[in-house]
Amino acid sequence: MSDQWIYLGDQFVKKEDAKISVYDHGFLYGDGVFEGIRVYDGNIFKMEDHMKRLYNSAKSILLTIPHTQEELTNIICEAVAKNNHKDAYIRVVISRGVGDLGLDPNKCKKANVVIIVEPLAIFPKHLYDTGLEIITVATRRNRPDVLSPQVKSLNYLNNVLVRIEAHLANVSEALMLNDQGYVAEGSADNVFIIKNGKLYTPPAYVGALEGITRNAIMEIARELNYEVYEEPFTRHDVYTAEEVFLTGTAAEVIAVIKVDGRVIGEGVPGEHTKTLLKGFREKVVQDGVKVYELQDNVNAV
Ligand code: PMP
Repeated sequence: MSDQWIYLGDQFVKKEDAKISVYDHGFLYGDGVFEGIRVYDGNIFKMEDHMKRLYNSAKSILLTIPHTQEELTNIICEAVAKNNHKDAYIRVVISRGVGDLGLDPNKCKKANVVIIVEPLAIFPKHLYDTGLEIITVATRRNRPDVLSPQVKSLNYLNNVLVRIEAHLANVSEALMLNDQGYVAEGSADNVFIIKNGKLYTPPAYVGALEGITRNAIMEIARELNYEVYEEPFTRHDVYTAEEVFLTGTAAEVIAVIKVDGRVIGEGVPGEHTKTLLKGFREKVVQDGVKVYELQDNVNAV
C-alpha cells in the first residue's frame, strides 16, 4: 500500500483506491479542466493565480466546480499537508463527472474533483546546465476562436501530438506554430526569445497560454530592467535569437540551445537565461505564501 493520498470526489483515498468511473465525461470526452501547481519549501507558488485560471477555465466551458475558491484552496492545502511533501507538484483536475454515453453534460450531476500531490517530475537536472534541443512540429496550436488555449481543458490532444512528434525526432520538447505560422508555445510550456538584450514572448492571441511562470518571468525581467514585449514572432526569429528559453510550472526556466538543427547563440545556456532562472528561484522562495503547516518528518525531495 502506498503512502500517497489522493483527493477524489469528496474524500481522501489511498492511491490504489483512487479510481473513477468509465462513464466520467473527463474520460469519455476530455470534458473538464485542470491546473498544475508547484510547492516550494512548503509554500504554494501563485496559488491565487492558479485558482483564478482554474475557475475561469471552468466558467468558459460552463462547468460548475462544486466548491468555492476558498474551499478548494483549503482542500488543496490539506492534500499537500496530508502527503507531507516540502517540494511538490500538485495536479488539480475537475471533470464534468459521471453521465451516460451521450455528450450531454446535463446528464452529469456533479463535477468530479481530483487532487494529486507528487514529488517533482521535471526535466533531468543536467538539462538545466546543458540546455535543451527542440524542434518545431507540424501540429498547429488550436486557434483561439475554436478552442481557446486559455481554457486549460482536459483536451490536450494536440499537445500530446506535439510530444509524439518530438519523441520521434529524439528530442524531449517542441514548439507549435499557430495557423498563420507564428510561434505559439511548447507542448506544456511558454517560449521566450532574447534579441538585442530584449525579451519577446508570443501574446495570448497568437495561441499561447498565459502561463503563470511566463507572467512571473515578465515581472522579474522588468524588475531587472529588461525590456519585455508580447509580440508575434516567426521561426526565423527563434533561429536567429541570442537566447531562447521555455517556462512552465514544472520546467521553471530552461534554456534551449538548438532549434530545428540551428544552434542558438553559443550553444550553451545564455547569461540572460541564467540570470532570469536565478531571479525566479529567489522569487519562489520570497513570494511563496505559507498556507499550511508541515509535520516535522516532512518528505524533502
Ligand atoms: N502552455 C501550456 C500548453 C501548458 O500546458 C503550460 C503548463 N501549464 C504552460 C504553457 C505553462 O504555464 P504555467 O507557467 O502556468 O505552468
